Amino acid sequence: MQELVWLLLLPVAAASGWWVASRAYRRGKEQVAPEFTSDYIKGLNYLLNEQTDKAIELFIRMLEVNSDTVETHLALGSLFRRRGEVDRAIRIHQNLIARPTLTTEQRGLALLELADDYMRAGLLDRAENLFLELIELNLHNSAALWHLLDIYQQEKEWDKAIAVAHRIESDAGKPMDSIVAQYCCELAERSLDHDDYGEAVSLLHRALESDRNCVRASLLIGRLERERGNCGEALKAYQQVLQQDVEFTPEVVDPLISCYTEMGKSEEIPSFLNQIVEAYPAVKSVLRLAELLEKREGREAAEQFMLQQQRSTPSLRGLRWVIHAQLDRAVEQDGRAGLQLLDDLTGKLIEGLPSYHCQQCGFDAKRIYWQCPSCKRWNTVKPVKGVGSDANKTPSILGES
Ligand SMILES: [Zn+2]
Repeated sequence: MQELVWLLLLPVAAASGWWVASRAYRRGKEQVAPEFTSDYIKGLNYLLNEQTDKAIELFIRMLEVNSDTVETHLALGSLFRRRGEVDRAIRIHQNLIARPTLTTEQRGLALLELADDYMRAGLLDRAENLFLELIELNLHNSAALWHLLDIYQQEKEWDKAIAVAHRIESDAGKPMDSIVAQYCCELAERSLDHDDYGEAVSLLHRALESDRNCVRASLLIGRLERERGNCGEALKAYQQVLQQDVEFTPEVVDPLISCYTEMGKSEEIPSFLNQIVEAYPAVKSVLRLAELLEKREGREAAEQFMLQQQRSTPSLRGLRWVIHAQLDRAVEQDGRAGLQLLDDLTGKLIEGLPSYHCQQCGFDAKRIYWQCPSCKRWNTVKPVKGVGSDANKTPSILGES
């Protein structure tokens, strides 16, 4: 890469030298040409003495900004930024913007590049001001709006993020409903941190107005209503999650069991569990149903059910349940040793499993993230299902009921 820059810079500097010199010569030989020659030789000396930083600075200064060289400045700035030399990119772009002779288009490009430099340098306030200026000038609106959205997300300025998302939606026609709903949930969680329950509920309903399939809003409403003793409302919210996105079933199995129990409707739990296992056999639901069967019909019925489930929807946790059951029945020492080994191995495998997985980039996590920390997309991290599922970290609550 270093060589590439020099290959680029040297001819540019040489051409610039020739061009500036010939122009100066035409203007009046004695005044400018000697100054340029001295700079040029000085630059070459820096190069020969391996003082590359000083040489680059000098050559860039010599490359006069005019309509013919703006593109070169922009290309150089962009090159430095890509190499991680953000300070240098910033100086080039600031130098460009200071020139009053730029056309509106050129100034817009330079502002966009400089704002990008600031973003890369983590100077988000400065970047924000430049993006706002671009929108004010009606230049590069789309790029500026997406960058602003990124800044407001990083700064957790959710109100501003909502305003920008609406602007993107109206300008570009891109649906932003589900993202706006997440911003409302972020604001709701902030209200809860300040014990402002009313505001939080209002924001959560606003989230659902924006995106009626916002699982996060329903989960939060369920939690809030349950904390306030409104189990009926909590039950409705958790049931809504099953309609919104069946893949979040593991998140609501235990809360739903608790709601039924607290409402004195424990008799409805078996049919509810059967229904959700039928609709979406997540390992957590399957294990809860097995616990219930064991309690009501005995160990053998539960074991038969689990063996059947393992054939249709295998999971490590389900397999371990079956191993435990057989271990309890094993009498011979040899048989027990083998089963014990299997139990230990599956236990170790389960320990390392993620509970959540980003369906966009493959990021694995032990807890839910509504915005993926890796690819930064919203609504892409979901509970893991199937053989590698570990979505059963909490202890059984059926035994407590
Ligand atoms: Zn991701």
